[in-house]
Amino acid sequence: MDRYGVFGNPIGHSKSPQIHALFAAQTGHALCYEALLAPLDDFPGFARAFFRDGQGANVTVPFKEQAYGMADQLTERARRAGAVNTLKKLEDGRLLGDNTDGAGLVSDLLNAGVALAGQRILLLGAGGAVRGVLEPLLAQKPAALIIANRTPSKAEQLVQEFAELGPLSASTFADLAEPVDLIINGTSASLGGELPPLADSLIQPGQSFCYDMMYAARPTAFCQWAAALGADTRDGLGMLVEQAAEAFELWRGVRPDTAPVLAELRRQLS
Ligand code: NDP
Repeated sequence: MDRYGVFGNPIGHSKSPQIHALFAAQTGHALCYEALLAPLDDFPGFARAFFRDGQGANVTVPFKEQAYGMADQLTERARRAGAVNTLKKLEDGRLLGDNTDGAGLVSDLLNAGVALAGQRILLLGAGGAVRGVLEPLLAQKPAALIIANRTPSKAEQLVQEFAELGPLSASTFADLAEPVDLIINGTSASLGGELPPLADSLIQPGQSFCYDMMYAARPTAFCQWAAALGADTRDGLGMLVEQAAEAFELWRGVRPDTAPVLAELRRQLS
């Protein structure tokens, strides 16, 4: 049976084995997918040992940059992201590195009926998750994509790297006031129940859409703030399922139907 897995440390919380088991059952593919605790001091050795008989793997915190470093070949979106969340063993044994996080976010937003083309989008944060979604978001041709981060120099650095791909700019939280169509929270503030310092005037009631990449059983602090101001909100559970579907398609050549899988995960989370 073909072998797949997700490498992380810690890894016990991962929903990926469940998602891929549901995809495999739905598509009739016989495969084995495990959560694997990779050692912090020898990720490359661990990954190479897995790929003696493994076919593909997802990679999560804190190994995405190391996976980027060990891939023999990279997709363009992984090269731009500087991080790999999906590895595939090619027929000649070499490893292809991809990054499906950004495509997962874009698919989930489009599934929710959120327009991206021609829209003013505000992206909060400048860490690994934001870096991974910049290229796919700019490919949707927004009118403007503004990055704001607690440490402004990191947002400015991303603008320098990605500005050639579209209308990208950086702002401090304090300078943000003009309403936007879509706010995407790519900070980890919600993990601690915190909210970046955002002006209420950013939201147009009934028109703005707010998306938190984090997901939880209850609405995050960011989603609560946005909903109270009259915005539609969504958390990142769909992004997780969509990035997994993208990886499954890369490995197996078939795109699973994500809607029933997302519904099942949501049911279990609540
Ligand atoms: P990183 O650690 O790389 O970056 C964290 C970012 O959050 C930085 O920009 C940091 O700012 C900012 N930040 C942290 N705390 C605060 C705060 N209290 N107020 C304002 N800004 C803050 O994390 P990742 O980029 O890997 O992950 C970010 C989020 O995205 C996490 O919640 C993660 O769970 C989620 N995620 C979801 C995915 C999904 O599939 N749904 C996939 C990947 C990530 P500074 O630079 O100033 O430190």
